[in-house]
Amino acid sequence: MAEKPVRDRWIHGIGASPGIIVGRAFLVERSRVRPPQRRIAPGEVDPEVGRFIRALDESRNQLTEIKEQILDEEVRRHSFILDVYLMILNDQMLIEDTIETIRKKKVNAESALEQTIEKLDSAFNAIEDEYLKERRSDLHYVASRIFRILQGRKHDDITRIKGNVIVVAHDLSPADTLQMNLKNVVGFITDIGGKVSHTAILARSLRIPAVLGLDVATNLINAEDLLVIDGENGDVVVNPSEEVSRSFLERKRRIKSIEREAIKYASLPAETLDGVRIRLQANIERIEEISSLKVYGAEGVGLYRTEILYLNRKELPSEEEQFQVYRRLAEALQFASVTIRTLDIGGDKLLSNYPKGSEINPAMGLRAIRFSMKEIDIFKTQLRAILRASVFGKLRILIPMVSGVEEIRNVKGVLQDVKRGLTKARIPFDPKVGIGVMIEVPSASLTADILAREVDFFSIGTNDLIQYALAIDRVNEHVSYLYEPLHPAILRIIRNIVQMAHQAEIPVAICGEMAAEPAYALILLGLGLDEFSMTPASIPKIKKVLRMARFEDAVALVKEVFQLQTSSEIKAYIGNWMAERFPKDSVQFRSEQS
Ligand code: PEP
Ligand code: MG
Repeated sequence: MAEKPVRDRWIHGIGASPGIIVGRAFLVERSRVRPPQRRIAPGEVDPEVGRFIRALDESRNQLTEIKEQILDEEVRRHSFILDVYLMILNDQMLIEDTIETIRKKKVNAESALEQTIEKLDSAFNAIEDEYLKERRSDLHYVASRIFRILQGRKHDDITRIKGNVIVVAHDLSPADTLQMNLKNVVGFITDIGGKVSHTAILARSLRIPAVLGLDVATNLINAEDLLVIDGENGDVVVNPSEEVSRSFLERKRRIKSIEREAIKYASLPAETLDGVRIRLQANIERIEEISSLKVYGAEGVGLYRTEILYLNRKELPSEEEQFQVYRRLAEALQFASVTIRTLDIGGDKLLSNYPKGSEINPAMGLRAIRFSMKEIDIFKTQLRAILRASVFGKLRILIPMVSGVEEIRNVKGVLQDVKRGLTKARIPFDPKVGIGVMIEVPSASLTADILAREVDFFSIGTNDLIQYALAIDRVNEHVSYLYEPLHPAILRIIRNIVQMAHQAEIPVAICGEMAAEPAYALILLGLGLDEFSMTPASIPKIKKVLRMARFEDAVALVKEVFQLQTSSEIKAYIGNWMAERFPKDSVQFRSEQS
């Protein structure tokens, strides 16, 4: 816990759910409970067993109550974890072992429970199994609830959150978030966790700004501290000066007013002054986001991330469940295409029921298509579901993390197999469903000419491409200053990919965060990209830039930029170029990331 108040202290983490917010800190204490250990007299044994059983009952009642009080549909979808806790509370081994220890060793309930937990913990630990590791933390969580009840301590006052607070925690268990009155939570910040952690997903679903992976947040922040957080950039300022708060709120206003002004462009085509049409599409990860496509003027879905269907749940999604989701997407979009990316999981985003050990270097490990080709049944189930849904609209299949042509040939082999199976079973599908690859691994970009002959389209994933090409871990704040979309190497790589795609006469899209930056839009236009795909809310502002420009000028700009040597020179050059041509709007086109 923090010892002295800090002022105007900036900390940087992972922007996990966008939005800027100022609020008071609500600290969730998660220090480990140290239960008192003591020996008991023979006459105390029965009462002690009774005390333990009552603590279990109360624990069950508390969790059931939490579960029943969840009214929000969205939150309810995340509540299965409470059933896992209840299962642990009913586990016969946990109960019987503890009671036996109380009786045999004549120790108090706390001591006996601690011994049982230690035993279970070391058994799990020895297996070194990702799934069981997760169950280990659930086990400790449940134990800490029982210890608190045994000691007559309130579990914590998380349920009594009042006013508008920013929840600050080392980590948040799903049960923590589920028992909060989320209506009073305006932001989340945690020491650990990343973009796909439970808190991040829930925060995005509920549109609550969140910054995770801050490392030192709970050390620096005291209860009631004033905080300002930017869930887009990952910035948090503790007890900000008035000037700093003002600058954040100013940015918030600026973003809002840009959005308000840009929204006017939502229904207009993304066409340059000299008549070049670009397709602006949406990146989405939840089916509920479909409604935002029309609002922001998306012409289809350029990237549907399917990971959320698989994460934070006990069972894998069935073919039928996936089919229903893909079908809804296909039907909702009708004639506009929907690009479904196959599972991009592995590394640090392991499935909760995937019983494999962790990896030393997950970003370069068994991720995305490598995972799918290894777990071929999971992959085939997903492909079958996509193919079955393909008759209801215009679907395309996108394969993530491809590193060479053999990989895509193998994938096509599997796809053929699945198609054969469907034909045999007389299940209809669109035989022409397009297949594309994400170009996000440098080897794929260098062999784009070879890959282009195998597929129907490319989609450049700059988030990973930058990470792998510049050797910058995309979630490591210590090297984030080197994460440069305008690095001359990145621009050369994109140029090569586009040229190779066009030589093979296939379209090329960009779906990394870079596509959503007005400051980069004209460079991407000049480089010849056919489609941009981004978070829906960014579409109008990119449309606006494209509609103000001439394609010819953008090509000339690219030529000039290729004479420059560093990202800062390039950034400054583009900034001046835009300021000269669009003096009235140039502030809007400044990079939000700078
Ligand atoms: C990318 O890498 O640019 C991308 C869009 O995929 P993700 O961010 O899901 O890895
Ligand atoms: Mg990627």
